[in-house]
Amino acid sequence: MTLPRPVDAGPRRPVDRIVAGGLVVTMDPQRRVIADGAVAIAEGRIVAVDSRERVEAMFQAAERLDASGRTVIPGLINGHAHLPMTLFRGLADDQDLDDWLQHTIFPAEAMNVDEAFVRCGSRLGAAELIRGGITTVCDMYYYEMAVAEELAAAGLRGLLGQALIDFPAPDASDHDAAMACIERFVERWQGHALIIPAIAPHAPYTVGDEHLREAQAFAERRDCRLIIHLAETRHEVQESQRLKGARPVEHLAGLGLLSERMVAAHVVWAEAHELDLLRDHGVGVVHNPQSNMKLASGVAPLPAMLERDLAVGLGTDGSASNNDLSLWEEIDTAAKLHKLIAADPKVVSAQEAFELATIRGARALHLDDQIGSLEVGKRADLVVLEMEAMNQIPLSSIYSALVYATKASDVASVLVEGRVLLRDRQLQTLDQTSIETEALALRHQILERLGRAT
Ligand SMILES: [Zn+2]
Repeated sequence: MTLPRPVDAGPRRPVDRIVAGGLVVTMDPQRRVIADGAVAIAEGRIVAVDSRERVEAMFQAAERLDASGRTVIPGLINGHAHLPMTLFRGLADDQDLDDWLQHTIFPAEAMNVDEAFVRCGSRLGAAELIRGGITTVCDMYYYEMAVAEELAAAGLRGLLGQALIDFPAPDASDHDAAMACIERFVERWQGHALIIPAIAPHAPYTVGDEHLREAQAFAERRDCRLIIHLAETRHEVQESQRLKGARPVEHLAGLGLLSERMVAAHVVWAEAHELDLLRDHGVGVVHNPQSNMKLASGVAPLPAMLERDLAVGLGTDGSASNNDLSLWEEIDTAAKLHKLIAADPKVVSAQEAFELATIRGARALHLDDQIGSLEVGKRADLVVLEMEAMNQIPLSSIYSALVYATKASDVASVLVEGRVLLRDRQLQTLDQTSIETEALALRHQILERLGRAT
């Protein structure tokens, strides 16, 4: 089919880049999928998403990236991670959550987590995110200032929370020090093009009511988001009922914490009335299916969340508990796990699963006016996938291919804010060799300090 040329073409408008050719999966409100499409980018924003012929007739690009024979998608959104924990990958597996935390993770953190550790883990995590087609990550950890600096240098987008917890942390000896650290962090990054700073009270069971209220007041005063772990395990719910007389979601509602500022990770153990509360207050929820499966935490009620049109996205969680940062695996798992649990293969369709990683995931982080789809005016965060590997051919339905067949290894190129971070599988902003060397040296140190043979 020949598309009509614009009647009044005139001189072509200069833009920075055009990603031209290939199948463009927009995830826009009409869910347009454009064969032989193109995306034009200027000053970090998308200025056109249309057929290649139209876009190339209207715009003159300083650089043209050929995507013919490939698929172009919005950058994936990893809604929950602890990037520095990449250095703890595989340190302890197949244990109860309590054992895992008390005997490995907490001691390993106490002995190793400092700013240099966080920087190294963040760079390692950033390289894995970029290679896997993730353009935005929601992270929470200690020394988040260092995470932010590393992500900004790598060119990734991050909604990043500086942690608040009611015991001495590696970067804050007490509550006042932690709040001062959060204040400096938010002050430093608010208004940055890539980094969105947040306050991150760890969980309702590790942060007392007074400090939770203070965190919420801070978020309102500084107009920032609040990231928290919520209703992850059955034990958390039982303890909340025993100690506070309310389930975790009810408890936070009572404290006035549920709001459009909140991004709540997990929400595994929530009943219908709690899901209604989360929806009515505009809370964003992040489902972490593989982490929940590996730690045997339970199965989040994702179909009930989707029925309510909750803003729910997908996350990998930290690499100590999952053990990688591949959102492709989470998409695939989310689609399959809930079919199994519901004994209904119609639950969580391929398109819905892909929405969780893109536009619905953007809603979960309260960023859907900026990212999550390829639309004019949005940030130019996009991924080019090769579709020629054995796991991809023959192609039948694009959502089926994206959800059930695509791997991180199919990611060819990645752009964030219009900047190329991965070009034909080559990292452009990070030095993979030095990252590997540093990570191996730190792993040696971690094992030595834990008294394990190396
Ligand atoms: Zn987590």
